[in-house]
Amino acid sequence: MFDSVLIANRGEIALRILRACRALGLRTIAVYSEADKDLRHLALADQSLCIGPARAAESYLDGNAIILAARLTGAGAIHPGYGFLSENAGFAEAVERSGLTFIGPSSEAIRLMGDKVSAKRTMRAAGVPCVPGSEGALPDDPLAIADIAEAAGYPVIVKAAGGGGGRGMRIVRDPTELAQAVAVTREEAARAFNNPALYIEKFLEAPRHIEIQILTDKHGNAVWLGERDCSMQRRHQKVIEEAPAPGIAREEIAGLGRRCIEACLSFGYCGAGTFEFLYEDGAFYFIEMNTRVQVEHPVTELITGVDIVREQINIARGGALAITQSDIRMHGHAIECRINAEDPFSFTPAPGCVERWTPPGGPGIRVESHLYSGYVVPPHYDSLIAKLLAHGQTRAEAIARMKGALEEIETRGLTTNVPLHVRLLSEEGFAAGSFDIHHLETLIAQGWLKQEARP
Ligand code: ADP
Repeated sequence: MFDSVLIANRGEIALRILRACRALGLRTIAVYSEADKDLRHLALADQSLCIGPARAAESYLDGNAIILAARLTGAGAIHPGYGFLSENAGFAEAVERSGLTFIGPSSEAIRLMGDKVSAKRTMRAAGVPCVPGSEGALPDDPLAIADIAEAAGYPVIVKAAGGGGGRGMRIVRDPTELAQAVAVTREEAARAFNNPALYIEKFLEAPRHIEIQILTDKHGNAVWLGERDCSMQRRHQKVIEEAPAPGIAREEIAGLGRRCIEACLSFGYCGAGTFEFLYEDGAFYFIEMNTRVQVEHPVTELITGVDIVREQINIARGGALAITQSDIRMHGHAIECRINAEDPFSFTPAPGCVERWTPPGGPGIRVESHLYSGYVVPPHYDSLIAKLLAHGQTRAEAIARMKGALEEIETRGLTTNVPLHVRLLSEEGFAAGSFDIHHLETLIAQGWLKQEARP
């Protein structure tokens, strides 16, 4: 059993992992790039080590450098956080081979879920409902592809088996555009993901994004921790997340949660994970599984009281889950706003110095952030600077608290998307609680932001 953890990440999630390790009494080792020597968690870690230049490919994505750092510092385990190497099966395997513990599922499980074609095949076999479409990877024969698209029913979406981060997909509304879309996506997939395999799904016009958080240990125990609604998206990236999903019957969610657990047990998944679904006309359709901790995990922590990162580490240490399904109670409603250092109208990243940082507080407010006054947000990485969470007895109370927190938050010197969140929280569709994944994009396309928001 390990008693030290190397945190192979940066920013807010590195700090979050460090806090979980400390609460468990584990020694922490932070690694950082040359651009990140001022990160908050470095000052709190027991040890820290620079692993390379600013460019992520030469630091946070350099698996060899990270494993070497673990060896040098005597770390027993590596926590990958999210992004970077967190879903890289090759890295997980190298960690396993070097005798260290990878805090996550086995490299096999990551590989299985990382290829969306094999993930869907596994889920179908386990009785998890999937979006109708091709049974496996697309063949080469254009006529056979045309038949598959026809059977799925237009419009369809052509997706890369190795795709991620909202990239490698193309919507096709007309059969005459199919061949071209397949060719372009295949090229892109080969280049960007090193995997030319494609699949086709029916394109759902107005779905919501609903996901189920699960935890499974090495002793065959498994729980699902409710759902999160992540339908407020821009360019397939989540902007606001909340739990529970407004307006969906608890029994429907419970049925889905149980199926996710059964699926995990059927293919031997172990750790924290998320099943992502699209939800339309009362039906759920699996799209992918994330085999890591997610940005929005605190939403679930607020309504269940379960510390997901601590459980994740405990599972990796071989511990048994401290909770059973019947222990889990959902309390109230939680919302997360992702605060980015970016222009709230053009969405261009806006790195720079936060001259004064004052986080909001009060009942039901939680802030996950690595900022401090004088910190300079570097231009090299993701623009997420803080996650602002509000919890309340009801959705209305959570929204009211979030509005107060957004008014209170101070990020002087930095341009952030706080004004976008302020607008969104009062927006009609959001207030009504039933909006689909295209809602925000549609608003933006209609000029909603430009009309009144500009000061
Ligand atoms: P990624 O790994 O890139 O995030 P996903 O398969 O999870 O890819 O899809 C990302 C987003 O793309 C979804 O949240 C949804 O907005 C959209 N999407 C994916 N598949 C479909 C589909 N069949 N119909 C409609 N929208 C889809």
